[in-house]
Amino acid sequence: NKESSIKPCDPSKIVVCVRKRPLSKKEKLKNDPDAIKAMNNTVQVFEPKLKVDLTKYTEVHPFTFDVAFDETAKNQDVYNSCAKPLVQAFFDGSKVTCFAYGQTGAGKTHTMMGTPEEPGLYTLALRDIFEMKQRKEYAHLGVYISFFEIYGSKLFDLLNGKKRVECREDAKQRVRIIGLEERLCEDPEQVAQTIEEGGKCRSTGSTGANADSSRSHAILEITLKYMDTPTTSENSSSTESDPSSIYGKLSFIDLAGSERAADTTHSDRQTRMEGAEINKSLLALKECIRALGQNQYHTPFRGSKLTLVLKDSFISPDSRTVMIANVSPAASNCEHTLNTLRYADRVKEL
Ligand code: ADP
Ligand code: MG
Repeated sequence: NKESSIKPCDPSKIVVCVRKRPLSKKEKLKNDPDAIKAMNNTVQVFEPKLKVDLTKYTEVHPFTFDVAFDETAKNQDVYNSCAKPLVQAFFDGSKVTCFAYGQTGAGKTHTMMGTPEEPGLYTLALRDIFEMKQRKEYAHLGVYISFFEIYGSKLFDLLNGKKRVECREDAKQRVRIIGLEERLCEDPEQVAQTIEEGGKCRSTGSTGANADSSRSHAILEITLKYMDTPTTSENSSSTESDPSSIYGKLSFIDLAGSERAADTTHSDRQTRMEGAEINKSLLALKECIRALGQNQYHTPFRGSKLTLVLKDSFISPDSRTVMIANVSPAASNCEHTLNTLRYADRVKEL
């Protein structure tokens, strides 16, 4: 029985799981074979290769993770096993993050945003969050949502027509995004609308002619805040959100296509620069998560804009991170799939 074979993740600080998507119609039409086997917590890549004399052979690459989802897994399965424990920690007052990593087309946005028929982690988490919020013990907290994009080293507000916003560290070294819209959400329907609006803005917004989603990181930030924090003299002049009113934070990050990190030798200068920035942020992210796992005193969050905006989550003592490495099953994507699995492996390895 499929359901019972998916075990809940280890509730430790860093959970790394792999999700294989089904072969697409196009891949099937091209007879692109399925070269990935995901089972329990293992993934095997069957890489087609040629010898010098051009005879074919298969190289097998085995990996082990916390969980591996095969192509039959639904967003609900991924949610139950990987993201639901984060929602619980969020209500306990932790700052938690969930990343979707992988090459373009591997299923990151399907996992995070999903479709009307199969809602993704954003919606599944928010349904639970509003249910939990009904409890009396949480009546003093409000649910706030922000949705923004990091493109190059610039930040754009997806809830405000991709308005450019700036990230700065305040006098107390807290990172704040100046001008970022934060919406108090009262019910799941309002949230669904907010997310849909942000998602549409991501793909159709006016900034940057080729700012397609494969070149940007999208961050959905859900914050639980005290509704009645007294205003202190320090922040009374500011309309920006006061970091000290934050009770818990849950960030979902739909990362830029990992293959873009290799665009650093591209002939077009713009593409090359974007590739370099993406490469830098994915490397910095790996280092920050590893530091978290090792309880290192020093977290290299200044390595990129992405890790800088996540600073509070990385340095918080009770933080938790889930990395979902999305992979395509197609043999033609083997190289990218291996790169993704090696990255995920490094994140996990202590
Ligand atoms: P990414 O965001 O990583 O570039 P997408 O999420 O857009 O990739 O997925 C690429 C295509 O594959 C989309 O058409 C999506 O609907 C489909 N897809 C991805 N994952 C799944 C899945 N688990 N089940 C069914 N279709 C999927
Ligand atoms: Mg996407």
